[in-house]
Amino acid sequence: MKHLLYYNGNWLESDGNDSISVLNPANGEILDQITYATATDMEKIIMSADKGFEIWSNLTAEERCDYLERLYDLVMAEKEDLARILTKENGKPYPEALGEIYYGASFLKWYSEEGKRINGEIIPASQVNKRILVRKQPVGIVYGITPWNFPFAMITRKLAPALAAGCSFIVKPSEETPLTAIKFFELVHRVGFPPGVVNCVTADAKKITEVVMNSSKVRKITFTGSTQVGKLLMKQAADTVKQISLELGGHAPFIVFEDADIDKAVEGTIASKFRNCGQVCIATNRVLVHEKVKDIYLRKLTEAVLKLKIGDGFEDQVKLGPIINHKGFEKIMDHIEDAKAKGGNIVVGGRRIDSNPSSYFIEPTIIDRVTEEMKMLQEETFGPVIPIITFKSDEEAINIANNTPYGLAAYFFTESVSRGFRVSEKLDYGIVGFNTGSPSTAQAPFGGFKESGLGREGGHFGIEEFLETKYVCLEI
Ligand code: ADP
Repeated sequence: MKHLLYYNGNWLESDGNDSISVLNPANGEILDQITYATATDMEKIIMSADKGFEIWSNLTAEERCDYLERLYDLVMAEKEDLARILTKENGKPYPEALGEIYYGASFLKWYSEEGKRINGEIIPASQVNKRILVRKQPVGIVYGITPWNFPFAMITRKLAPALAAGCSFIVKPSEETPLTAIKFFELVHRVGFPPGVVNCVTADAKKITEVVMNSSKVRKITFTGSTQVGKLLMKQAADTVKQISLELGGHAPFIVFEDADIDKAVEGTIASKFRNCGQVCIATNRVLVHEKVKDIYLRKLTEAVLKLKIGDGFEDQVKLGPIINHKGFEKIMDHIEDAKAKGGNIVVGGRRIDSNPSSYFIEPTIIDRVTEEMKMLQEETFGPVIPIITFKSDEEAINIANNTPYGLAAYFFTESVSRGFRVSEKLDYGIVGFNTGSPSTAQAPFGGFKESGLGREGGHFGIEEFLETKYVCLEI
C-alpha cells in the first residue's frame, strides 16, 4: 500500500507519482511504500497550514489543550502498535521502542497542561498615564524536520508545544522512518483537529524544504538532525528571517572521577551509550576515566558489555539492534579502523556481525588508549563504540571535555557534591548528567551549546520557542 500525504484534515494523493520504499534495517526487507510530495503539493500543504492557523490560533488555550489530551489518550491506547512499527523501521529493541512511545507521549501530556499557562505581563510604567502590557502570541506556521533515531518522540517534542502555543504544524519525518509518523497521524485524524492544524509530508527533504524556505507564511523551522544540515537550514531561513530551533550533533564526554561509585558509573555508561545502539545525539561518545580507577572501571564495563545481546529488536533480551543503514555502518567501521591504525587497543568487540548482507549489526565495542588525533575523538561516531581516555586532574578532564565545537550533553560521576557542582558549572554543555546517564524528561530543557544547536525543547522553555512577544503601550 502506498501511504498518502496528510493535509486539510485528510489523507490526500500527491500531484506526482514518486514514492520510496521503507526498509527494515534488521533484515533489509521492504516494509512499505510512501508517497513523495512534489513542490506543488508542498505549496498546498502550506496553504492548508495557513487556514489551520487561522482557526487554531483563535481557539481558547483550554480548547487546544483538550485536543492534545485526547491525542495523548489515543497514543496510550495504541502504544504497542506504534512501538511495533517503530522497531520494524528503526531497528531498536521493542521494549526500548515502547519506552520511546511513553517518552514521546509525555510531551503531549505535559503541553496539554502547560498550554494553559502562557501568561503575559503588566510592567509598571514610568509615566502615570501609560500602561505597559506584554502578551505572548503564536509565531505562526511551524515546519518540523525530524530524524530517524527517535521517529516518534522527535515529532511530539516539537508538535506538542507548537500546538499548545497556538501554531499550526507541518512535519516532515525522516525518509528512513516515516511509518511511525503515518501511524501517529492516523491517531491525529481520529482526534479530529480542525483541518490544516496538523499536517504531514513525506518527501525529498531538500526539494520540499526549499519551498518552505521561500514561503514567508512559514514563520518557524524546528529541526533535529545533523549539524551539517542544521547549518544549511540556518542559512536558508535567513532570507525570510524565520525563527529557527536546532537540535544537532553532540560529542558527549562521560567523566568517571576517582571518587565515583564505579558500579553506578558502569550502569550510566551502558544506559547513555547503547540506547538505540549508540545512534543518539546525547550518547556518550568518549569516556574520560581517572587513572586511579581506570582498571576497575574498565574491568566492570567490559563484563557488562559482554552481556549485551545483539539482534532483531523483536527477539527476547536483545539490547542492541542494527545500524540504520550502510552510510551509518561505514562511518562507525571507519572510526574503529582509524583508531586501530593509530594505536588504539580493542578491549572488546570491533567487528560486524555478518548474519545478513542487507543488515548491519556491530558488536558493542570498547577501545582503550584512544588519543586526540583519532577520528572518534573529533567527530560523533553514532554507534556502539566506547573510546577510553585517562586523566589525572579535574582541570585536565574538563579541558578535554570542552575541547570540541559541540556542546549538547555531558555526563560525570563523583560522590562529592562540591566537586559535582564545580564540574557541572565548568562544562560547556546544555545538558549535564551528574551521576546519571539518562537525563531526558518532558519537563526539562533539552538542547545544546555551541554547534550543537539553538533553542530548547521540553518544559516551559520549549513552548517559548513557538511564541512571539508583543508589547502593547497604552496611554490613558
Ligand atoms: P542523518 O544523517 O542522521 O540522517 P540528517 O540531518 O541528514 O541526519 O537528517 C535529519 C532530517 O533532516 C531528516 O528528516 C532528513 O530528511 C532531513 N534533511 C536532510 N537533508 C536536508 C536538507 N538539505 N534540507 C532539509 N532537510 C534535510
